[in-house]
Amino acid sequence: MTPMRPGPFVAGNWKMHLKLSEAGELAGKIAAAVPEVSEATIVLIPPFTALNAVAGAIAGSDVGLGAQDLFWDDQGAFTGEVSGPMLKDAGCAYVLVGHSERRQLFGETDETVNRKARAALAAGLSPIVCVGEVLAERDAGRTLERIDGQLARGFGGFSRPEIERVIIAYEPVWAIGTGRTASPGQAEEVHAHIRKRLEDSYGNDAASCAIILYGGSVKPANSYPLFREKNIDGFLVGGASLDADSFIGIAREALRACREEK
Ligand code: PEP
Repeated sequence: MTPMRPGPFVAGNWKMHLKLSEAGELAGKIAAAVPEVSEATIVLIPPFTALNAVAGAIAGSDVGLGAQDLFWDDQGAFTGEVSGPMLKDAGCAYVLVGHSERRQLFGETDETVNRKARAALAAGLSPIVCVGEVLAERDAGRTLERIDGQLARGFGGFSRPEIERVIIAYEPVWAIGTGRTASPGQAEEVHAHIRKRLEDSYGNDAASCAIILYGGSVKPANSYPLFREKNIDGFLVGGASLDADSFIGIAREALRACREEK
């Protein structure tokens, strides 16, 4: 009999949405529904301003808290930036690093991703590091080459204990916020490739335990076939995470796939 996979990891990136009362209300609804999907790991990633409100709303539940970005120094004259120790202090266990919107709109590079992911680890946070190709790269057959470059530079110099605390999110840029999802086969090809690269660099144990998320227009209707793929361990969800029913529905559908024998 095929062993059951560990439950899905489902993180909601709220991007630049929701004022305090809205954030608290949504987090409260999600926390109340989480016992229905208790085998899943559920993480909320609100904007910085709402971290405290969300931390209060999820207190005592199994919901985890994450932030959308961090700076690599711990403190200093860096107006507008927020550090890893500050996020830890605010109750975060996770932080996004290198989301494609940060890369495309705010000039982040694989080198800044590397510095930020290291800073997250040093602060005791698990970085959720985003990688993914743009449409022109996919159309030119250069998807895996792009991913290889992002992994090599983004994780250059990482030790095995460090990489074991990193979560990787494969998010094809053409699928983010577009309603156009990668097919399960397209996503699985990249996820399997990422796991193989981890195996080459860090060995089989580190690779098989790694959490590799898919992100890009995930909804309840497509999470089941995606999660059935062997190397998809969960989802990073944008738009659909702003609605409690959709977000929990994604976890529920992933759990349905998880419980089925392959
Ligand atoms: C994201 O912001 O990481 C994302 C995947 O967004 P969406 O689900 O809206 O495509």
